[in-house]
Amino acid sequence: MNRLLPVMTEQDILPQYHGTPVGLLLEYHNLNREYDAYTQARLLIGMCMDNRKHLHIPDNFAYIIRSGGANLRYSEFKVSYAIGAGGAKSIALIGHNQCGMVNLAARKDIFIQGLMENAGWEREQAEEHFMQLAPMFEIGNEIDFVLSETQRLRTRYPKIQVAPLLYKVEDNLLYQVKEN
Ligand SMILES: [Zn+2]
Repeated sequence: MNRLLPVMTEQDILPQYHGTPVGLLLEYHNLNREYDAYTQARLLIGMCMDNRKHLHIPDNFAYIIRSGGANLRYSEFKVSYAIGAGGAKSIALIGHNQCGMVNLAARKDIFIQGLMENAGWEREQAEEHFMQLAPMFEIGNEIDFVLSETQRLRTRYPKIQVAPLLYKVEDNLLYQVKEN
């Protein structure tokens, strides 16, 4: 089952995003829409910290919170700030494929070894750190997670539009995630 809806033309943008900052984001990033001038942010973008991702958006258009797996559960004050003080009216939550926060257990040894070699940590300290925090940051599956995080944010900020999106690292394009 394909849960991703591509945006190759303006007509591909879902009706609920037309005329919204989310629709503009899709046009800027995927369709090379000419940049408009902004003096105030319209959008809050939540996206993974992963180094393979880069958005094409105009200056001043969006607040961006980058966090492993586009997980905003531990960034609540920053989300509230972008909405309350920053004027963001919509949230674009952008997961991506090949995310490192999926199946963290598979990278446990690399993580521990890396902290020992690169940061000078003791093995025991690195192991404890991983065991304690990995469960909080594990996202399971990129698409399922972005949908559940979308639901959580909608409940928390009922007047804010929250759009689940996915960034594919192969083509650097944004995809709309199908909801039902
Ligand atoms: Zn990621």
